[in-house]
Order: sequence, then structure tokens, then C-alpha cells
Amino acid sequence: MITQWGVQQIADAIKAKKVSAVEVTKAFTENIAAKDKMVNAFITLNEQALKEAEKIDLRLQKGEDPGFLAGVPIAIKDLFCTKNIRTTAASKILSNFVPPYTATCVDRLQEQGAILIGKTNMDEFAMGSSNETSFFGRCNNPWNLEYVAGGSSGGSAAAVAAGFAPASLGSDTGGSIRQPAAYCGLVGVKPTYGRISRYGMVAFASSLDQAGPMTKSVDDSTVLLDAMCGHDEKDSTTSRQKWQPLRGEQMADPKKFTIGLPKEYFEHNIDAGVKKAFDETIESLKKAGATFVEVSLPNTAYSVPVYYMVATSEASSNLSRYDGVRYGFRAKPPQKDWGTLDDLYSHSRSEGFGAEVKRRILLGTFALSSGYYEAYYAQASKVRRLIQNDFIEAFKKCDLIMGPVTTSPAFKTGTRINDPVSMYLNDIFTTSVNLAGLPAMSIPVMLNQEGLPLGVQIIAPHFAEQPMLSFARVIEGFSNMKGRVASGL
Ligand code: GLN
Repeated sequence: MITQWGVQQIADAIKAKKVSAVEVTKAFTENIAAKDKMVNAFITLNEQALKEAEKIDLRLQKGEDPGFLAGVPIAIKDLFCTKNIRTTAASKILSNFVPPYTATCVDRLQEQGAILIGKTNMDEFAMGSSNETSFFGRCNNPWNLEYVAGGSSGGSAAAVAAGFAPASLGSDTGGSIRQPAAYCGLVGVKPTYGRISRYGMVAFASSLDQAGPMTKSVDDSTVLLDAMCGHDEKDSTTSRQKWQPLRGEQMADPKKFTIGLPKEYFEHNIDAGVKKAFDETIESLKKAGATFVEVSLPNTAYSVPVYYMVATSEASSNLSRYDGVRYGFRAKPPQKDWGTLDDLYSHSRSEGFGAEVKRRILLGTFALSSGYYEAYYAQASKVRRLIQNDFIEAFKKCDLIMGPVTTSPAFKTGTRINDPVSMYLNDIFTTSVNLAGLPAMSIPVMLNQEGLPLGVQIIAPHFAEQPMLSFARVIEGFSNMKGRVASGL
């Protein structure tokens, strides 16, 4: 069944003319039409998708090479601007925003022939861990619809897990690719900060945001990374380090790897199933010859508070652009016009933003305000550096670090949304990676007793995506999760 195929398999079949790009796009769009009512993975579908697929078929008939993603449908988190296709960031304030340009990373996927199938659901402005803060309704986990898909890239994860697209694009500010990937049984990669251009990506916290792929196999993630990574003139924070193509690479030799296990990670309350999945993975890796050493990341306990200082501060500044004048939604005045400009701003923002976004704007504005800046934001920035230094020290003893992605598997919808602190603590193993700018990924290893996926996390030194991904192939080799779509639909 085409809807269960991966990226590489689809690209190969289209190139070999075993199937047309139109047939592939149809298979996925029909599956979306039949089942997305249950999942709510998409906010907007691309009405031009079939036309774009026709164009790919035509080019192939003429003997042209439309690129290594020719005809592969990809779902895009609704955080990336797409020319002439509504881009909402799952917020009311952008609910009518149609961008005049496309984000660089999406452009690069399309340059390789990818078909943009639709824009996926997410937490509003990527703020959340459960996809329950979306203005367009929550997104359900295709493995069990009563559970959250994770967040903030919940729609991107659910779309792939449900067989609505073979791959998707997510963004990760504090775990938003890795956590939903783990909850939905996928490979999710957050590259080194600066590997992928942020141009055209709706900003949440600019020093942390990074785009990345979500797929059913390591191989498929490397194909997307090859298309997207590399310097971009339009984003001065992109790195000039050359990206060496990774697709088609082989599995690493585990005997050549020393893996660090941070002792602080296991001082936390971790769900028994998550712990078991992690321990069994480590056992298999040991048998395969990998060496394990204990490392220390002493500032781990500060990563969540520091993250929520830095992220909310940057968000409060980034979100000041939504004023009801330049973008999207404007509140209707009671009479003909608003009395003052301030009235227009405050009513548009009050009605346009949801509760979680408002909470973060308030927190961030407070942390940046004069008199408190030194005590909160500046202090958090210093601890951020200590967190980065911890990793640099640890990587003197090991090639990669492994840990859980989250403390628990996917949780039931509605169980944490009214307790923001418990939701924030969910990010304990993911946020430090963004604060340090490191590459990391989650990789699915098994299902728990309830049939929900469990993943493990690999963290690598800056720019060391290559060893991280080839080592991930070893783990993938042990698990039976490769290429699986969810059984809950
Ligand atoms: N859960 C984290 C938050 O709510 C991470 C979000 C993200 O990575 N975009 O901020």
C-alpha cells in the first residue's frame, strides 16, 4: 500500500516509472480525506498538490530529472511560510495570513521535486507539548486517539504516523520534533542550530528554533536533511560549514563508539516502560560492541527554568509584531473605529492570542523589563552557557550521549493541559539540547503494553549529525519500528 511507503521507496518507484507522482499524491490525499477527521493532523491542505504532481510526471516523461524527492508528498508544519498557502502557526491572530513567499527549507524540498501536501496542526506558535493549544483544535495520536500526539509538531508527527504523508517537516525549540516523534513512533531529527535556514519560519525563540525532518526511518530523514541543510544568504545565523550528503550511508560500526550516559538523567522519575525501552536498547548496543561510560551534566536541573526564561523572553519580543495592523487578525471595534491605536492593539492581541501564548508573553515581558532583566534574563543566559559547557566537557569522554526523550510516553488528552508546570517539566531531556545548540534525534524502539510507541534520544556534538545518524541506524536495526504506520485508525 503506497500510504505505508517511505520517502526513498516512493522516490525510487516514481523514478523507475512503477508508479506516477499523481497516483502517489492521490493515495495520500484520499487517505487524508477518509481519516483526518479523527486525527486532525492538517490545518490546510494544498489544493494544488495534484497539479504539482502532474508537472513532475510531465518532466519525468520528457526525460528531465526533477530532483531526488521527485513526487514525494511532504507535510509541512503550519509554522513555515508557503507562498499563496495560508500559514497560521495554529493561531487565530494569523488565521487569515497568506504569505507572499516560501520559507527557504520548504523551497529546497520543492527544488528537489517534493510535493507539498498540506500544512499541519501544531501548538499555537509552537508553544506546548501536546498539540492541545491549537486554535484549530487538538490533534490526536494515530496509535490511540485518546492520547496526545505530542507537541508542538503534533500534526507533523501524526500525519506521518497515520499514513497521510511519508515525511513531514517540524520545528524544535525545546523538543518539538523529538517529543512528538517519540510519541508517534517516528524518527525525528533536530540538527545543529544554524544547519537549516530559519528564513520564512514563524519565529518563536530565535536562538533556539531549528527545523528538521520527521520520518519512518533514518534513511528517509537523511534524504530530507540533504535537501534542506546548508548556508542561506537570507539567514545570517545559518552555518557556512559544508553539509556532506548523508543519504544512502551505511550503518555505523557500534564497536567504534563510546556512548555517554548522563547520571543526572536517571535521577528523575521515569515511567517504567520508557526506562525498560532505554535499558533494553543499551543492552543490545553493548552486545553489539558499543562502549558505555557515565558522564555528568551537572546543570541538567536548570535546563527547564532556563529554557522557559530564554524562550519566553525571545517570544515576547518576536510576538510584538502581531499588532492587528501589519499581520492577520484585527479585532472589530464596538463602533465605527477604535478610539485609540492602543485600543486596536490590545483588543486585537487579546482576542487573537490563546491562553498559553499570553502566559508566555507576560512571563517574557516581565523577565525583560528594566529592573528584572539582570535578575532573570541575564542570569538565565549565564546558566545557559554553563549548560553548554557541561556538554562540551562530557563530549571529551564520549562520541555521543544517549538518554530518554521524555519521562513518559504519550499521555491522555486533557490530563496535563491545566497544569502548565507539569507540562513544562515534560521537556527536561530535550530543552538543554536547544540551549546548547546541539544536534539530537529521537528514534523509536518499541511499543509499550498499551501499544504506544517509545523512543530513545541520541545527542551529538555540534555539527556531528553524520555519526549520530549512522549510529541511529544501529538502533533502528534492533527495533521492529522501522517503516511502521500506526495501528489505531
Ligand atoms: N514544549 C516546549 C515548549 O512548550 C517546546 C516547544 C518547541 O520545541 N517548539 O516550549
